[in-house]
Amino acid sequence: MARRSVLEYPDARLRVRAVAVEDVATVQPLIDDLIELMTASKAIGLAAPQVGEAVRVVVTDVSGAGAAVEAFINPEVLSTKYPGMVEESCLSVPGIVASVPRATWVQVRHLDRSGELRVREFEGLPAVCLLHELDHLDGTLFIDRLPWFTRLRLWRPLREARRRADRV
Ligand code: ZN
Repeated sequence: MARRSVLEYPDARLRVRAVAVEDVATVQPLIDDLIELMTASKAIGLAAPQVGEAVRVVVTDVSGAGAAVEAFINPEVLSTKYPGMVEESCLSVPGIVASVPRATWVQVRHLDRSGELRVREFEGLPAVCLLHELDHLDGTLFIDRLPWFTRLRLWRPLREARRRADRV
């Protein structure tokens, strides 16, 4: 059973730049927890900073149902292409759905759970999902990437989220 919960905007821990993992053995329980939380939330991705762990680990599952689970440790974007506008949401920014400018193809280098270095390419939803999760490792949320006209539309709900957090 997961002991962790997902942090929500505007929690300052979502803004921390995560550090590289030195030994993949140390993050195995964290990866298990992230996968469990992602699956329980029917999400397609989750990054370690979203549960308050400032390490460079993300999990994805573009099936949204536990059928395509992947773990990425110390992921690095080598190249991107095919920019588009992609509708995104985030467990850490509940209630907000918006189109974000995002590459739809990515080549990434990462360690897998067994510590093996891999270089892989993703296109479409898996690419977009991975880039969204990788942003979390640098303290960036998808709402930071919104065009100005979308920011205007979401200014009020985001202010409300900040006010709710102040009252906690
Ligand atoms: Zn997110």
